[in-house]
Amino acid sequence: MQKTFSIIKPDAVATGKTGKILSLIEEKGFRIVAMRMAKLSQSQAEGFYAVHAERPFYRSLVTFMTEGPVVLLALEREDAVLKLREVMGATNPANAAEGTVRKLYAESIERNAMHGSDAPETAAVELAYFFNSIELNQL
Ligand code: GDP
Repeated sequence: MQKTFSIIKPDAVATGKTGKILSLIEEKGFRIVAMRMAKLSQSQAEGFYAVHAERPFYRSLVTFMTEGPVVLLALEREDAVLKLREVMGATNPANAAEGTVRKLYAESIERNAMHGSDAPETAAVELAYFFNSIELNQL
């Protein structure tokens, strides 16, 4: 079993897609380990996306991620990181495969409905950024 981290982003929460996205994730065999709604602060969003700090879209991304509530998720299944990337689809919805969350619900390359960790090491860091070890059943 592997854990991964996901965010249902402000665009998808605001347009009422939370339930549909959670259904898709569960249908693909993920167990929801922890889940919390939050409105990210600027410093939380900046820290979360620090790896993109030099990218031209960084400020815009931080503004987007703080514009409204998100749903933070700790998810578990076999090969969770890779499988969630498949459920999520390509960053740009124009390139996302049929049936993926981003194909179904993303508005643009930035407002793309959902985040999913890109590697097991990243997942561990991102899970610990938002959830404590009790929430992650790691005690
Ligand atoms: P992901 O792993 O598919 O989420 O993609 P990245 O890690 O490359 O980018 C993180 C997030 O930054 C994406 O999910 C988008 O919300 C945003 N983003 C990525 N590329 C672009 C871009 O070229 N322009 C804009 N405006 N936002 C982008």
